[in-house]
Formats: sequence, structure tokens, C-alpha cells
Amino acid sequence: MRSARNNPGRVALLLSAFLSALALAPQPAPAQTVTDQKALATLATPPAGDSVRGLPADAYKIPAKKLFGRQKLPADMKARAIGTYAKGCLAGGKAIPVDGDAWQVMRLSRNRNWGHPDLIALVERLARESKAAGDWNGLLIGDIAQPRGGPMLTGHASHQIGLDADVWLTPMPNRTLTRDERENISATVMTLNRKQIDPKVWTVNHAKLIMRAAKYDRVARIFVHPPIKAELCKWATGDRSWLAKVRPLYGHNYHFHIRMKCPAGMTSCKDQWTPRPKDGTGCGEELAYWMSDIPWKPKKPDPKPVDPNKPKPKPPVGLTLSGLPAECRAVIAAK
Ligand SMILES: [Zn+2]
Repeated sequence: MRSARNNPGRVALLLSAFLSALALAPQPAPAQTVTDQKALATLATPPAGDSVRGLPADAYKIPAKKLFGRQKLPADMKARAIGTYAKGCLAGGKAIPVDGDAWQVMRLSRNRNWGHPDLIALVERLARESKAAGDWNGLLIGDIAQPRGGPMLTGHASHQIGLDADVWLTPMPNRTLTRDERENISATVMTLNRKQIDPKVWTVNHAKLIMRAAKYDRVARIFVHPPIKAELCKWATGDRSWLAKVRPLYGHNYHFHIRMKCPAGMTSCKDQWTPRPKDGTGCGEELAYWMSDIPWKPKKPDPKPVDPNKPKPKPPVGLTLSGLPAECRAVIAAK
């Protein structure tokens, strides 16, 4: 400060640098409602030594899901998955075409057909190979990721680094769906309840499609509803090692979720570490757990009675850009 006060020329220089930085900065988004000023004061502090230029003025002030949710285009950078599947972002995202020779993208209004180019190539390969083999007419593709990945306002905890893709278990019809249909058609639910498959809709071709995806070397895991895993365990013969990648998870009864391994040598990307099922397939103990009532036991009720006179606690701001990997700042700042 002292040197600046003693040197008017330096003050003018700093001022002009500040003004030109302002001119370069993108227009700030409309004001956001801040729900918890106190939480914001801590979270909104840019990390020390932050030197990323071109960040929007509100980059640290709004929840990361809003910041990433409003990105319409990818960051024009070298393609990289940054962070973990459930906390990260995507540089150099690529969109899968909404109409392919063996697929159609659903729910176009969500703009979530972006992914790491390797994942896009893998989804296209699955679509083409399963069609060519006569197993599947074509893929109906659900959410992949936002143009720059990151957390989403609705839906998923993961799908943040462009290496996760949801594929419907509904076969593609023999025609191009209209935009309206892609928005409104419901996917077919494959289960009668949490323990039983619906034999009227489940086919051997569903099993073949999931097996093909699981056998790809670069696929890390596939999530399906527990009774679907049970059905695959009953069906599979010969080499059953691919079953180890098919993991039971609720909520996957009308689509399955493909998770790809981090591309080789990509240090910015963190693979998910969990042990492989002990029996080599997950058809034993792990499946028994998921098919039991244990995961469904209701949580203990809150012992404290709610005081109606007490004001409701405000929801916290949640994760902001400062809570994501540092490289995600450049992803937001990029053109
Ligand atoms: Zn998913």
C-alpha cells in the first residue's frame, strides 16, 4: 500500500489493469438468491493463489450445480476427466449426435449428451456392435454429462466427469422419434418390485446387451437394479467373470449405467476404488444382501420433536466451485 501511495503512476497502472480485467470478464449471470449468507461467506472465498482469469463474477458465490448447469457449450480445451465420478468436471467434452446409425438421444432439453470423447466412442461402439449382432435394434441414450460436466441441478450424484452414461432398457423403435416423443415417452420398467424381474418385458437380448458392455475392457462397472443382476447371474454360462462388473444399485430398473475407467495416464481423473466381489461374480453374498430387506430397513426416526415456533434452518449453499478440483476453475473460465 505504502509504495502505491507514494507512487501515483503505479496507482494509475493498477487501476487500468483492473478496468481492462473487468472488460475481459464475461457478463455476470442474473443475480442468484443466496439462501445462507453465513455459509456463503466461507464458501465464496476464492482459494488462495487463484490466478484463473475470465471466471464469471459469481463463480464462487453460487452453488456449483447452478454454475455448471448453465453451461451450454463445452470448454474448448484438451479432453480431460477431472476429479472423481461424483465430484469433478469435464474439459473438452464431446456431444454424441442426437441421431446415430444405431442410437437416438432422449430428453434433448437437458443438454446432457456430452462426455469424454473416449466414452462417446464406447457408447457408439456398443450401439453399432449390438445392432450388428442382432441383439439390439439401437440404443436410447439417457443422461451422459453436461457440456462441462460438474454437479447437476437434478438427477445424479455422479455423471460429473464425462465417463458415466445411462442407456435405457427400452429397445429403440424402427423410426426416428420426434423431439416431443424424446421428451415425453416413458422408459419401460423391467421389474415388478424390488425383488422380481418382469418376465413380460425382460428378454435374453437385454442380458446380451449388458454382457457386451460389461465385457469391454475399458468399462469399470455397470449399475443395474438388484433383480436384474439376479437374472443375469441365472442366465450367464461359460466365462462369468464379466458379472463382477455388474453391480446392483437401486434406481436402475429402466436404464443401466455404464461407468468407464479413467483413460490411461490421465492423472487428473481418479478411479473409484472398491474391492471386486470376493466370489468373482457378485452373484453370492453381495447379491443376497441387495435382495434382502436389510437395505430397505427404515432409518431411525428423529428423536427430537420439532419446535413449531423455531424458524426452519435455511438450506446450506452447498458445494461451490472452491470445493471442486482446482482445475475445474479453468474449465469454467474457458471459452
Ligand atoms: Zn446413471
